[in-house]
Amino acid sequence: MNREVKKFSSQEPINMSASDLGFAKQVGKVAGTDLNSCLTCMSCSGGCPMYPYMDYGPHGIMRLAVLGLKKEALTSTTIWRCVGCHTCAAVCPMAINIAGVMDYLREECLAEKLPVGDVPLMQFHRAFLTSVRFHGRASKVELMGLHKLFTLGGGPKTWMQDAVLGVKMILMRKLHLLPSRVSGVGRGQIKKFVTGPWRSR
Ligand code: SF4
Ligand code: SF4
Repeated sequence: MNREVKKFSSQEPINMSASDLGFAKQVGKVAGTDLNSCLTCMSCSGGCPMYPYMDYGPHGIMRLAVLGLKKEALTSTTIWRCVGCHTCAAVCPMAINIAGVMDYLREECLAEKLPVGDVPLMQFHRAFLTSVRFHGRASKVELMGLHKLFTLGGGPKTWMQDAVLGVKMILMRKLHLLPSRVSGVGRGQIKKFVTGPWRSR
């Protein structure tokens, strides 16, 4: 995976008069954070382990959201390549919940049926949440199986490319073939979280 130059949705300059200036407020309300307080200091992108593989990086997404450039933010690779590690929030001088923003933007991208910036990674998120929905927590073997299933279009080479590593991990007891499940009402409560656009893709 390499850093790609961002291909904007249009060859024309972005028409700022069409921007949705309420977007940052809407995102901030759901993610429980204030995007308008962003200083564009880039500390988040400086600490982000995935920044070399993103088009905008977290600081760029914050800027797009504040400017109301919703479509650019929702179709970026950045929102899918964020691994939710919260390093950005730890270094942000304004304590912005950036990982929470990324979560919301992924859901919005699917809900609005916009082009997904990184389809295999979207399918990885989907496989993870499907496994969590079944068991209350992710099963690694099932997660890998589901991801292969959801990305069948990659062809036989991609189906088998991790097989040797998988067998090695099983032999080293790093992978358990049988999933462990959250018991009782907890599993039902977790299941309720995995709803909406994730189930329709
Ligand atoms: S670290 Fe915080 S304030 Fe600085 S650019 Fe990132 S989100 Fe904005
Ligand atoms: S939570 Fe996402 S954006 Fe923030 S540092 Fe981690 S990968 Fe980067």
